[in-house]
Amino acid sequence: MLNFALPAGRATRTVRWSSSAAVRRRGAVRQHRRGLAIGIDIGGTKVAAGVVDAEGRVLEEQRRATPGRDPRAVERVIVELVQDLGERHRIASLGIGAAGWMDLDGGTVLFSPHLAWRNEPLRDKLQEMLRRPVLVVNDADAAAWAEWRFGAGRGESRLVCITLGTGIGGAMVMDGRLERGRFGVAGEFGHQVAVPGGHRCECGNRGCWEQYASGNALGREARELARRNSPLAHELLKASGGVVDDITGLTVSQLAKAGDPASKELLEEVGQWLGLGLANLAAALDPGTFVIGGGLCDAGELLAGPARQAFARNLTGRGFRPPAAIKLAELGPKAGMIGAADLSRVSGRRHG
Ligand SMILES: [Zn+2]
Repeated sequence: MLNFALPAGRATRTVRWSSSAAVRRRGAVRQHRRGLAIGIDIGGTKVAAGVVDAEGRVLEEQRRATPGRDPRAVERVIVELVQDLGERHRIASLGIGAAGWMDLDGGTVLFSPHLAWRNEPLRDKLQEMLRRPVLVVNDADAAAWAEWRFGAGRGESRLVCITLGTGIGGAMVMDGRLERGRFGVAGEFGHQVAVPGGHRCECGNRGCWEQYASGNALGREARELARRNSPLAHELLKASGGVVDDITGLTVSQLAKAGDPASKELLEEVGQWLGLGLANLAAALDPGTFVIGGGLCDAGELLAGPARQAFARNLTGRGFRPPAAIKLAELGPKAGMIGAADLSRVSGRRHG
């Protein structure tokens, strides 16, 4: 075992890792792949870290609030979480999933929408602080990898994953490896234009798919309905205490599950936009399976049913080709953490 301390000037705590000498020993690579890994998922509001075994099981999990937008503060939280978990587990590798574009090499976060990372050399900084190899990946890539290894995408050779949250995240696992594009930024499916001149998107364009098939879209449509004083919006207004601006996609999703007809209709509409976009992706990529994850997939078949119908109606060559399966994700919000951990474990073999 190797003891190490943080760089001078910081509070010094020793952490026990598998020794680097052991990793160099004959046969140690296999041990590395079977060993425990830490996966860290950095989101806009929280940093979640878990100890994950080789079967994708989370043995222990810790969460902290994301400390504002200061990159240094985020790095400190990561180091603290790794030290804390490392005290109780023998850790062989470490992977970090973050919302943002990574360069193909995985060392630099080119851009992060929620964090103040612009050309941030995150991997090198963390490796310096932790004194061991760190893998940094896009969070949607990490989640897709987890679903392919342990979830709804198991056994699929051409997998496309869609994460529906406030926007749409996308990632692909093709022939057992992440497909990241020429520059590392593939999978931005949410910003394909679905409606020219449509709703304004954060990216600057108008009519992006994620403006129609996401949690944000669901909330916006529900608020619109409520503002019109439609009697249909009665339950939505009741659930938000009469405050229109407090109606979110989650409000709609929960009411739909409870049977509110208007909420079911709103969710159905979002599901139809989802299915249309999936048909477009099938025309380009021809996957065998789409896995739909993210917060919005809690709505289950209320979302997936209309999506499958719209997919079948819009699929090019329908009737003359096998349709892709559309499945709901199985790993829930831990997918990013599990995938980042697993990628760090197998990175020498499959990733990059
Ligand atoms: Zn956009």
